[in-house]
Formats: sequence, C-alpha cells, structure tokens
Amino acid sequence: MIDRDEDVLAYVRKSHERYLDELKALIAIPSVSANPQHRGDMERCATLLVERMREIGFHAELLPTDGAPFAYGRFGEDPAKPTVLIYGHYDVQPAEPFELWLSPPFEGSVRDGNIYGRGAVDDKGQVLMHIAALEAHLRVRGDLPLNVIVLIEGEEEVGSPNFERALERHHELLQADLAIISDTAVYAADTPALTTSVRGLVHWDVRVTGPSEDLHSGYFGGLVRNPIEALAMLIASLKDEQARVRVPGFYDGAPAVDEATEIQIRELAYDENASATELGVPQLWGERGVHPLARMWYRPTLECNGIWGGYQGPGHKTVIPSYACAKLSARLVGAQDPFAVRDAVKKYLLAHAPAGVRVEVADEGTARAVLIGRDHPAVAAASKAMERGFGKAPVFIGTGGSITPVGSFDRIYGLPQVMIGVGLPDDRIHAPNEKFSLKQFFGGIETMAMLYDELAESLPARERSAR
Ligand SMILES: [Zn+2]
Repeated sequence: MIDRDEDVLAYVRKSHERYLDELKALIAIPSVSANPQHRGDMERCATLLVERMREIGFHAELLPTDGAPFAYGRFGEDPAKPTVLIYGHYDVQPAEPFELWLSPPFEGSVRDGNIYGRGAVDDKGQVLMHIAALEAHLRVRGDLPLNVIVLIEGEEEVGSPNFERALERHHELLQADLAIISDTAVYAADTPALTTSVRGLVHWDVRVTGPSEDLHSGYFGGLVRNPIEALAMLIASLKDEQARVRVPGFYDGAPAVDEATEIQIRELAYDENASATELGVPQLWGERGVHPLARMWYRPTLECNGIWGGYQGPGHKTVIPSYACAKLSARLVGAQDPFAVRDAVKKYLLAHAPAGVRVEVADEGTARAVLIGRDHPAVAAASKAMERGFGKAPVFIGTGGSITPVGSFDRIYGLPQVMIGVGLPDDRIHAPNEKFSLKQFFGGIETMAMLYDELAESLPARERSAR
C-alpha cells in the first residue's frame, strides 16, 4: 500500500512543470461568465477540459445546460466501488480593472512561488489538482480505487442560475455517493482546513411609503411622518443592544456553538484587533459573548444591505420624501428553515410598521444552510489525506458565505459533501493579481491523490449503502 502511494506521489513530483503549463493553458482562456462577449471562450474552456479528461483515460463530453455547458467526465462503473462526484468550475470573474494587474490576467505568470492569473486558484487550479491526481493514479496503477465523476460548471461566478435544472436533467449521469468540492480556502498558510458548514441565505426588499408625492418640508413639515425616519426606526428595531435579532422565531433551529467547536475555535490563531484594523473599523461588532469566528461561521446574521430614499443630488432640496426603501438579507445556520425565517421577518416588519406610513415587504430567493457532519467517514478520510499532503492535520472551519452548488447538491441529490479546498486567505480571488501558491497547488495534488484511496477504504459502495 505504502509503496503504491509512493509511486503515485513520485509521478506527481516529477510532473510539476507540466501541471504549470496545463494551468497556464486554462488561464489563457478568458472564460468570464458574466460577459456575453466571452460565450465562445466558455465553450473553448469546457472543451479543453473535456479533451484533457479524455487524454487521462476518462469518458468525457460537454453536457448541455440552459447556459454554459458542463465539462463532464467519468471513469469506472464498478458497482463494488463507491462513486464520488468531483465538482469545480471553469468560469472566472471579470479581470477589470486591468491596469492594477502586475502581469496580464489571462496569462499565467510564475513568480515568488505563486502562479498569477485570473482563475489561478478560483477555480481552474483547483480543478486541475483533481485531474492531475486522477492522471497519476491511472498512469501508475492503470485504475482508480473509486468510480469517479468530474463535473465542471461554467456559471458559478454568476450564481449558478441553471445549475439545479441541469442536475435534474442529467441526474442519470450524476448518481454518486459523495460530492467533493474544491473551491474553498484553508485557514492560513500553515493551517490546512476542511470546511464543514456553509451558511444559508434569505433576501427581502422593504418599501415604506408616506405621502403620494414628495412634499415641501416647509409647507408640510410637521404634518406627516417621514418615510426615511420610519424605515430607519424599523430597521434599527430588528436587533437589541446585544446585537441579537429581536424577530420572534428567528433563531429557531440555529444551534448554540457547542463546547467542542468553541475549544477548536479558541485554538486557532486569531487576533480580534488585527482583524478590526484589516477591516478598517474601530472595533468588531456582533452578537455579545460569541467568538468573532463563531459569529462568522456558525451563527446567523441579519443585515441591511442597502437603503435609499429622498433627495440625493447636489445642494439641498427640502422635501419630505414620498418613500424609502431598503434591502435586507439573513445568513442562516444549522436547521433554520429559510421559509420560516423569511415569513417571520416579514411578519415582524409589517407588525412594527410605524403609524402614518405603509410598509410593504417582498422576498426573493432562499437557500438552506448545509452542515457536513464531522463524524461522516468522508470527513475523516479527507482529514487523513490533507495531513499527508501538507504534513499537518487540518482544522475544521465554516464559511460564512453561501456556496450555491453545495446547497443544490444537498437539495436535489441529498448528497453528503466534503469541501476540501487549498486556497490561501490572501489569494485575492475576484480581485486583481489573483494567485495560487505553488506549494498549495502541488500539496493539493498530493492531497487529492491520497484522498481517493482514503475514501475508497472508508466509504461503503453504492449497492451496499443503497438500503
Ligand atoms: Zn470559485
């Protein structure tokens, strides 16, 4: 067993230069999903990935969706082996402003132990880690310890609008026992990490209407309630002095941070003052008595994302505005039901409508939080693989963001998932000079190569787990 691993790892170590060339070829295609002018590049990028998968021995093809195609690959149909689905995305964020890049964004440039370029780490480099690790297995052993499906989507950076429909449409081709997502970061350069939770999301639009048109504040001031003032009061009333949300039922299903998690968080290197400085605030703020990392990863939030109303042009215009609007959103955790939260906040806003104005609340889009049980055998397997790839056992972290495909796999397929990404917090994803550390890239390939073996040993095969 050890010998076979050594062969695979030796193959990886002698291929570093080639992996960089392959990553450069992917970075060179400006697959910017947000810009319709790049539609041809999307197809080119997906096709390159399909060709690459065929070269290593996969059956691969483009799968149509209502938007950019999936690059899809498959190896193995052995019912005695478990099947894993590896997810990544080939689309990238726009590279503007170009002038802030030190080397051209669509040209992989290696310097100071990093490769720079749009998509280097998010997510082309992390997709390639898997293809490289799968290739090493196939070249050295001629087989994989698992059945493997690779699904690389092209619309992650625009919110995966066609993803769920495509999952439904192609479900025959995508049946698996586990999804592996490599689109996240570790905690720090010297602290490998596995992400085990993703927060959910709910949005609201609030509109407070007063007089049927803007009124002269001289003639009418003192006669009607100002909608901006009413909206500000309403929003301010959502939280108490402890920064806890006042809406009845909001916290239903949100677990308190348990002791084991609390201990783990306190072991992480974290400096509250440094974090405040980095964010440019005089001090951090949030739910009293809860560690900042726990507030960000494991507790729900309710935020006002935008607010407007009245006159905003140059000089002054003395009006009582006719209306004021705000956008609100909540991040959810644990078993919080997004629909129940949606309704509870709506009910609260309507019930607390200040006298003299009308309040309307619209809602759109909800996503449930996803929590991966730390006792799932796949998490233990991923932890072992990461320890072998980086020489240090990973810590468990959450992500405060909401990764759309993770929610979709959970909702459409009910798939357990392992989020094993190796980016660094300072990789500047979505910003100029995005990079991927070569140490993380090559360590990531070794981690993935080990991961497949660890999973093969720990996961029950489909036919055994089916009932
Ligand atoms: Zn990404």
